[in-house]
Amino acid sequence: MKCPRCGANDDRVVDSRESAEGAAVRRRRECLGCFLRFTTYERIETSPLRVVKKNGERVGFDVERVLAGMARACEKLDVPTEALETAAHRVEARCQEEYDREVPSAVVGNFVMAELERIDHVAYVRFASVYREFRDVSQFLEELERMSEVERRP
Ligand SMILES: [Zn+2]
Repeated sequence: MKCPRCGANDDRVVDSRESAEGAAVRRRRECLGCFLRFTTYERIETSPLRVVKKNGERVGFDVERVLAGMARACEKLDVPTEALETAAHRVEARCQEEYDREVPSAVVGNFVMAELERIDHVAYVRFASVYREFRDVSQFLEELERMSEVERRP
């Protein structure tokens, strides 16, 4: 650890203890060049969120990709970009909150659908048709029907 005073890269640890919550280790160090004592903290690196694909492959969660998918679903619709950005970040936050480290790709798809449902019905159906993998056409039509029922409500 580089000394903050003389810049020497040689020290000895004079004391080492866990912080109160156990989230960090605090170390008192003494520079062997100028004998300055200074403190360092060692923390666990929080690993980034990963998406588990159907084939078991794991990829880093990419909010830009989520946003791109949502934007594609909203093509030619009058949806403000900020609304999509906010929604994409909400999807990320939900994944981190509910899944910690690894989230199945289907769950990401469901969260995206929930956001799109609130933003734009057409975008929602478009996205759903791709990501929910309707088993047959009737299932897709059911979804459309359900959506139009929602729209008819005052
Ligand atoms: Zn020093």
